Amino acid sequence: GNAGSVPQRAAYIETAAITANVRALRRVASGAKLLAVLKADGYGHGIVPAARAALDGGADYLGTAVLEEAFAVREAGIEAPLFSWLSAPGAPYARAVEADIELAAYSLGQLHEIADAGNLVSAAPRIHLKIDTGMWRGGATIADWPELCAAARELEVAGRIKVVGIWSHLACADEPGHASVAAQLAVFESALSIARSLGLEPELRHIANSAATLGNPEAHYDMVRPGIAIYGVNPLPQEARETCPRLRPAMTLAAAVVQTKRAPAGAGISYGHTESTSKETTLAVVPLGYADGVFRSASSVGPVQVGEGRYRVLGRVCMDQFVVDVGDDDVVAGDQVLLFGPGDSKEPHVEAWAAAAGTIPYEVLTGVGSRVQRIYL
Ligand code: PLP
Repeated sequence: GNAGSVPQRAAYIETAAITANVRALRRVASGAKLLAVLKADGYGHGIVPAARAALDGGADYLGTAVLEEAFAVREAGIEAPLFSWLSAPGAPYARAVEADIELAAYSLGQLHEIADAGNLVSAAPRIHLKIDTGMWRGGATIADWPELCAAARELEVAGRIKVVGIWSHLACADEPGHASVAAQLAVFESALSIARSLGLEPELRHIANSAATLGNPEAHYDMVRPGIAIYGVNPLPQEARETCPRLRPAMTLAAAVVQTKRAPAGAGISYGHTESTSKETTLAVVPLGYADGVFRSASSVGPVQVGEGRYRVLGRVCMDQFVVDVGDDDVVAGDQVLLFGPGDSKEPHVEAWAAAAGTIPYEVLTGVGSRVQRIYL
């Protein structure tokens, strides 16, 4: 068995932090419902535990990008309202409708495909119509919007679908004052009034991601859709956070030191010998690599904490491991190395880790590989 074994590579997940973050976000958007975004395996935290933690914090809705993720939520026995928004033609819509998964419609073709799937299973699919307000990603353009609304209204009157939402997504909500936010909200208002004039006034208008939930009350409407914030990361720039609740990062990424050894000055480290020791020193081997989500771009820069010491990746990150120069400090095999976490043990915040690797916390969290054991606290 594994008696006495210690985790070699672990992402510790504090589900209570997710619960508390959701509670805090509900207070920020107290007039709106809250959809907890669970895509990408709950931003790497594990979709089912993240869903349960969010519901404990008062989430009204759960959301996933792709249907496979929504099915995973239902297969875990979670019955909360669930919305999935990213499907191409041929998606298993009938199975989705049977599983009481609400679906996005971006186009006439998709609307009819979903309605036909509903016929097959004798249910009226619950649909959120998507307007592209200016991100130029998914959704109907404002030019195509009246036709989509008219068709949806007709299907609704025929009892074949139920339109429960009209929604969009903001491109630049994490840049307070960016002109595109007001422009997108204006298009959203036009889309809502066109829908209303065609007889569609669904209960859920929603457009706010974490940044808009935290920074733009005008964008709250009937429901907010925070993702990264429920996992404890505030996407607003530091100077815009004064009025925000403090969020607690839910994930700590850790590994146990495999080996330490003394190396002389001038030792070339890791692939390519991109760096060398400048003096005699102790090197520690950490069993996490780019296959685990420690980006190769963190080579020579990624910060880590071992006990009281703050160090950095020395040389290149490999597939499974990297090297840290711990100087003359007393680090031994088996010691715990922290890459990022809430900071309780002085470890870096995931934002600092992401910045060092030249990316964003979203990519770091969702990139944590399946080989890294999730341990729920
Ligand atoms: N809503 C939709 C449709 C999304 O795709 C996402 C993720 O990008 C979110 C909400 C949540 O975004 P964030 O994690 O920035 O809060």
